[in-house]
Amino acid sequence: MSVIGILLCGGSSQRMGFNKLTAPLGGRTAIEYSMRLMACCDRLIIAVTDDARAAVERVPLGIPVTLCDGGATRGQSVLNALRASHGQWGDVVAIHDAARCFQTAEAFDTAVQSARKNGSGVASLPMTDSVFQRDGSAPLDRASLVCTQTPQAFRFEEILSAYEQAGDQIATDDAALYARFIGPVTFTPGDPRGRKLTTPADWAWARSLVALPRTGTGFDTHVLGKGRKLILGGVEIPFEKGLIAHSDGDVLLHALMDALLGAASLGDIGHLFPDKDPRYENISSRVLLREVARCLREKGLTVTHVDVTVIAQRPKLAPFFPQARQNIADDLNIPLDRVSLKATTTEGMNDEGRGLCISAQAIANLI
Ligand code: MG
Repeated sequence: MSVIGILLCGGSSQRMGFNKLTAPLGGRTAIEYSMRLMACCDRLIIAVTDDARAAVERVPLGIPVTLCDGGATRGQSVLNALRASHGQWGDVVAIHDAARCFQTAEAFDTAVQSARKNGSGVASLPMTDSVFQRDGSAPLDRASLVCTQTPQAFRFEEILSAYEQAGDQIATDDAALYARFIGPVTFTPGDPRGRKLTTPADWAWARSLVALPRTGTGFDTHVLGKGRKLILGGVEIPFEKGLIAHSDGDVLLHALMDALLGAASLGDIGHLFPDKDPRYENISSRVLLREVARCLREKGLTVTHVDVTVIAQRPKLAPFFPQARQNIADDLNIPLDRVSLKATTTEGMNDEGRGLCISAQAIANLI
């Protein structure tokens, strides 16, 4: 029994503000995830608009793929795709929305198996919320209700017949037409991952599924000298010496910035803020940290956690860390709990132990 997949890549992404089907999502596009899900079919017919065509053509798939024009409505796209099979009917056709790109292979397979056996198989989820009509009357019996997803699989000739009978009648999905013209629909278990990407909140959810965590490390040392303020984590710490540098010498924030830039693959602070540049002379490193945070945001990255260890024999730093943590959390615009600071001595060994310098090492995690 052969299975024809129909993938719908139409839609205007109006509620998203950008083309959700072709935008990068964890290194692929929603179209690519959906196409890979459907590689279990014997043939694939894809209804595309012009702006999605290139994204479809980039994906190598080991099965025959036919493209057809997406229609003005979802129903028109399905009908175009059914007709594009040029009479090579499959026994079963599985229709899937590309915007449900994380539907599971199990849900897909279960719907197809049901169509073979029962004539239809429509991925669906039980209602978990109470459902009311707007007139405020008693709620509907949610145990008797389901929410449909895709895939929606049917015997080929039956769903084609339903669409041809429907003409211009509007239906929200294929199951609605099947129920109207053919008979009762068989529902199969869908999956919460089959959620349709419609709003920016859906997009944020999708990103959280596929975004790869990034990690960066940073290290910095500055020499201690007289006549300088000691500034660590943006806090001025009373001490007889300070750190000698072009900027304010905040070694803690310098290590942290290098870790953040490393995780973002954006180089290092020497590259971003050259120490020959007079703009950065004695500049507060917090200004630079806020600039780094802006660069991360521009790249669509979020800081999930940072941890910095300062290596100094003297002075005692712990009393100043609550304020330093707060400064970092403020500059990166993240909760305080995402910022960790620690201090250690080197028990009198090394240049830090002899009081010649202060060093810091940092690790940053981004998503
Ligand atoms: Mg430095």
